[in-house]
Amino acid sequence: MPSPLPTGSCTDTEEAAALLSRARHLLLDLDGTLILQDETIEGAIELLSRFDGRFSIVSNNSTHTASSMASRLRRMGLRVPPERIVLAGEVAVRRVRQEFPGARVMVIGSPAIRRFALAQGVKLADTAVDVVLLALDKRFSYPRLSAIVEALRQGARLVVANGDLTHPGPHGTRVPETGSLLASVRAASGTEPLMVVGKPAPLLFEEGMRQLDATPDDVVLVGDNPATDGEGAARLGLPCILVGPAGGAAPTLVALLDRLAFPGTSMGLSRMAGRLAAEVAAQAG
Ligand SMILES: [Mg+2]
Repeated sequence: MPSPLPTGSCTDTEEAAALLSRARHLLLDLDGTLILQDETIEGAIELLSRFDGRFSIVSNNSTHTASSMASRLRRMGLRVPPERIVLAGEVAVRRVRQEFPGARVMVIGSPAIRRFALAQGVKLADTAVDVVLLALDKRFSYPRLSAIVEALRQGARLVVANGDLTHPGPHGTRVPETGSLLASVRAASGTEPLMVVGKPAPLLFEEGMRQLDATPDDVVLVGDNPATDGEGAARLGLPCILVGPAGGAAPTLVALLDRLAFPGTSMGLSRMAGRLAAEVAAQAG
């Protein structure tokens, strides 16, 4: 009987690689772990191919649906079926529908999330609002903030897709997230959210494990954010590997993969690649 996987966030390269090599299933964060905005992080394609059929993506993204995210990822070279993608925006819509059946809901979010809410049977409303659902809205504006504040003043409940202030973009840039919009709503209304659906809350992780038919005993979370991934994993008792950019405190994805023996050999990926390149060069020569 194998010993249980250790819990807690791991940022040591050797320990993290050992944890990864023993993982049966993976829950994978997206931004900062597999992609940076529209760029794939080195090692992401290899990781998905190594864990083919054994991973779910669990992301605080609240602008996409699983199907639009699957298309976006495919264009970036990452093959992930929509049924293996759990996103905070979609989960928040489903949660509102379940918790507040028949409610009039002001959905602040992307066109895709508003369409998804409609398709789920949520009643979209701008007046006599029962629930304000706040997701990432890239057209957030002063009039929209005023409408939210007024709805909350009149007693509407506030449900928020995710609390992240930013996520990492390419070349060290920062991408503002739903939590930044929430900060303005909080400041102007004095209202606290009834519920923040995304990580570190357990809902997304639980849905990801359900997709995989996995249990906390055979899942490892790979993420980049101690406050959402690390904290969320700790709450559920899941082991968590934190990765990061080159030169940081956490290992890069590619450094971890490099430590894993290539299946059937004792060779790391880079050594295997090096040997293949040498063989190709020898044949060409
Ligand atoms: Mg992340």
